[in-house]
Amino acid sequence: MPGNASENKGLAEANPAWYAAGLDHVWLPYAQMKTASLPLAVAATHGSRIVLADGRELIDGIASWWTACHGYNHPHIRAAVERQLATMPHVMFGGLVHEQALTLAHRLTGMLGPHGLDRVFFSESGSVAVEVALKMALQYWRNCGVRGREQIVAFKGGYHGDTTGAMAVSDPQSGFHGSLAGLLPRQIIVDLPLDEASTTALDALLAEQAERIAAIIVEPLVQGAGGMRLHDAGVLQTLRALADRHELLLIFDEIFTGFGRTGTMFAFEQAGVTPDIITLSKALTGGTLPLAATVAQRKVFDAFWSDDPAKALMHGPTFMANALACAAANASLDLFAREPRLAQVGRIESLLREGLEPCRKLAEVEDVRVKGATGVVELKRIENLNRLRQRFIDEGVFVRPFGSIVYLTPALTIAEDDLLKLTGAIRRVLA
Ligand SMILES: *Cc1c(COP(=O)(O)O)cnc(C)c1O
Repeated sequence: MPGNASENKGLAEANPAWYAAGLDHVWLPYAQMKTASLPLAVAATHGSRIVLADGRELIDGIASWWTACHGYNHPHIRAAVERQLATMPHVMFGGLVHEQALTLAHRLTGMLGPHGLDRVFFSESGSVAVEVALKMALQYWRNCGVRGREQIVAFKGGYHGDTTGAMAVSDPQSGFHGSLAGLLPRQIIVDLPLDEASTTALDALLAEQAERIAAIIVEPLVQGAGGMRLHDAGVLQTLRALADRHELLLIFDEIFTGFGRTGTMFAFEQAGVTPDIITLSKALTGGTLPLAATVAQRKVFDAFWSDDPAKALMHGPTFMANALACAAANASLDLFAREPRLAQVGRIESLLREGLEPCRKLAEVEDVRVKGATGVVELKRIENLNRLRQRFIDEGVFVRPFGSIVYLTPALTIAEDDLLKLTGAIRRVLA
């Protein structure tokens, strides 16, 4: 059992039988199983609340890795999934299509299509959506008859997922994949062009190596799981200009930023530039079911359009375009269309600023930053992550610091009261 610290004993005893029976047989994410605190047993969720098996209720500051954008158990999404469950939970996507997937592809491209992004490849997780984007970019050049463009440029502080290709374009220093350093395909990981010096350096690197490079991949506006760092829209304009100048494909990984998180439906809209490929997942189904999409510009798709079978995109996850997940995504898009989500993000943004800014004067605090419905307090260092996490639970909130940051990515529908309690808890715990 993980977390054999004595403070955890009471927790274990208060839990239901399934907890003790299964805990020694499950392998938890991003955890040193020997020293991690015991996970909390959850009985139910609703709105912005997590109900624990022992009856306690926590205000959720994370929205389950920022997926549950409409809060948990939204009745409109539930009803859509229940309807779909009764007719067809899943059918393979090879040679068969169905209403929910085609409707979703039509709707997503309706939102992205004005920017030219008009072909959707569905998969079942963000990492796989990134793998597909990388494969599209690499094969694009081969299909165009260009050899040698085999590298991807990515950025320090970036995170693109946990599969091999996605790990290789993530920052090895951010702590996720360091233990596999040297075993992954070598990509080119550089500084974001945040100022003139880094822009000139990137331009020079691309000028020298463009013939070896297929694409640039970036998380627009917010680098999420790699440390919740922000950059402004000008950086994306710079990247678009550099990609054009050196004839590279540009991939925006909007798995964190998509669906309102930064204040617009997609972060790239704030920059007025368009990627060649975009990846979406996380909030796509409103946090109910796993689904992801890689959406390509016509120019990318056209490079695969051929009489030659070898030019096809050879990818096809078993649960691709799962009907339940697509039904959930369609219902989630209904909610974005008819409820004032982006206005809610604006309100959350100002409450996060007011609520977190006072932390800046604490001696241990390095930085406070807010973008849309994401609020971050970066500390100089966190000595005891387990203890800090426990302090938040004692405050009745679920906030899960990592690295040296404490962050909030609440549901976009969170009640003002609950949000004030979250920021209040952060101020109290850090003080
Ligand atoms: C979470 C995330 C991924 C990986 O998605 P999974 O569904 O966890 O595989 C990729 N890119 C970004 C920007 C993410 O936030």
